[in-house]
Amino acid sequence: MNERELYTKAIKTYGVREQSAVAMEECAELIRAINKYQRKSNLDNRMNLREEIADVQIMIEQLKIMYDIRQDDIEKIKQLKNERLEMRLEKED
Ligand SMILES: [Mg+2]
Repeated sequence: MNERELYTKAIKTYGVREQSAVAMEECAELIRAINKYQRKSNLDNRMNLREEIADVQIMIEQLKIMYDIRQDDIEKIKQLKNERLEMRLEKED
């Protein structure tokens, strides 16, 4: 089973509502992990941060499937946002 098939099966099994709730919970866990690592940059907190990033990435993939959002479209938006960021950073120099 590839990644997309696995996530599609999870969505079919648990439903869009539940997986959307999981996505929100994982985002909250990542927020807490960032905060914790900022306060104390030890190995435990680093491992936790890494795990929460993985969880959120998994749920982002499921959100894209559930709400029919194409990676191509995300890439276009990222491109625009990165260009704007680059311009803002150039002004900082
Ligand atoms: Mg988590």
